[in-house]
Amino acid sequence: MSLAAKRHLSRVAALGCVICRRLGMSDTPAEIHHPRFAAGMAQRASDWLAIPACPEHHRGPRGIHGDRSVLRQIKCDEPALLADVIELLSRE
Ligand SMILES: [Zn+2]
Ligand SMILES: [Zn+2]
Repeated sequence: MSLAAKRHLSRVAALGCVICRRLGMSDTPAEIHHPRFAAGMAQRASDWLAIPACPEHHRGPRGIHGDRSVLRQIKCDEPALLADVIELLSRE
């Protein structure tokens, strides 16, 4: 991984969970999710498309790797969450 990509991932993680943010809670400690929507078959998802999500919203039963019902609750998909990330980073 390039130094620039590492720096990007740490900035993304520092934003806190973007799903929590949509639920009205800011600065929830987040881990990095790599969406697959822009990855080719068997190709690793790009670090530049990473989305920060807390452990519950990332790997929990209702989270991105669970039944994804939290995404229905906030009426959001991964591209919309990525747009949140880009907007938040542009404010820094
Ligand atoms: Zn969260
Ligand atoms: Zn993930």
